[in-house]
Amino acid sequence: MKWTKEALQYMNNVPFFVREKARKKVEEWARQKGVGEITMNEVMEARSKMTARDPNAPPPAKPRIAVVRCNIVSEVCPGVGCLNSFNKREQHFARYGPDAELIGFFTCGGCCGRRVSRLVEKLLPYDLTHVHLSSCMLLEGDYPRCPFKEQIKKTIQAKGVEVIEGTHH
Ligand code: SF4
Ligand code: SF4
Repeated sequence: MKWTKEALQYMNNVPFFVREKARKKVEEWARQKGVGEITMNEVMEARSKMTARDPNAPPPAKPRIAVVRCNIVSEVCPGVGCLNSFNKREQHFARYGPDAELIGFFTCGGCCGRRVSRLVEKLLPYDLTHVHLSSCMLLEGDYPRCPFKEQIKKTIQAKGVEVIEGTHH
């Protein structure tokens, strides 16, 4: 099957011991989609499928939550508002009981959210169930609204994790 130069270059960065298996999976995905050439689109879609939560796995016993926040805003905010709101189960965390755990708090890695996919994958083995998008990504005010919000949301949802918009306001 034909590959674009960009897609091939990406695959060259996959560790050699899993590269062949990954290449076959991408080609299998491209055949299912009926496309004749593999672009970065097919590579990223296949990657999302391979790393998503198994939809047949039993649901985790309790909510295990992460917050993704804006990399730009993180320069000036230590995250107190988000964490305080979680600890008190207020605003967008009011839905959880005392058994909920915050297992991750990370920035998107800068526009256009390049770190999100990788870090969500890292949390899947820890039974991540929900990711909250920080309120500063959503509101126009002291900080600009994130123009990549929908893309970031889809990236997380593709891994079988629920996305909730907002944290503390
Ligand atoms: S939502 Fe508020 S507390 Fe949370 S990271 Fe953004 S600015 Fe900071
Ligand atoms: S992608 Fe959105 S959340 Fe991330 S740094 Fe850019 S504006 Fe902020």
